Amino acid sequence: MTNCIFCKIVNGDIPAAKVFENEHVLAFLDISQVTKGHTLVIPKIHKENLYELTPEIAGKLYEVVPAIAKALKTEFKPVGLNSVNNNGELAGQSVFHFHLHLIPRYGKGDGFG
Ligand code: 5GP
Ligand code: ZN
Repeated sequence: MTNCIFCKIVNGDIPAAKVFENEHVLAFLDISQVTKGHTLVIPKIHKENLYELTPEIAGKLYEVVPAIAKALKTEFKPVGLNSVNNNGELAGQSVFHFHLHLIPRYGKGDGFG
């Protein structure tokens, strides 16, 4: 999709700090870090939200999420982790290309929750 910011990241048209990449999935640091290591995991194919994901795309994405979460745990040493997905403006979605937030947690007052 031409005017989607995350498609532009997938295509290399705008830069991002990549955490993981394979044929189907890209993970990169959120530009506005809620906590240190806040990462977004997206399918490379443009799908607006959870409702648009096929089982195959969801499978490809979640297949790599545990390894990404473990890599964040090793790198940033959080004490917890939230995985969050917002669907629709009311639910807080601001970029309409499906993404899973991985938000490492460090304690009360760490910026999230
Ligand atoms: P949402 O509010 O849709 O659940 O989350 C969208 C996220 O995308 C936000 O946390 C926002 O900071 C992040 N974001 C928006 N534009 C960019 C960008 O150009 N690069 C990166 N790395 N993250 C972005
Ligand atoms: Zn897109």
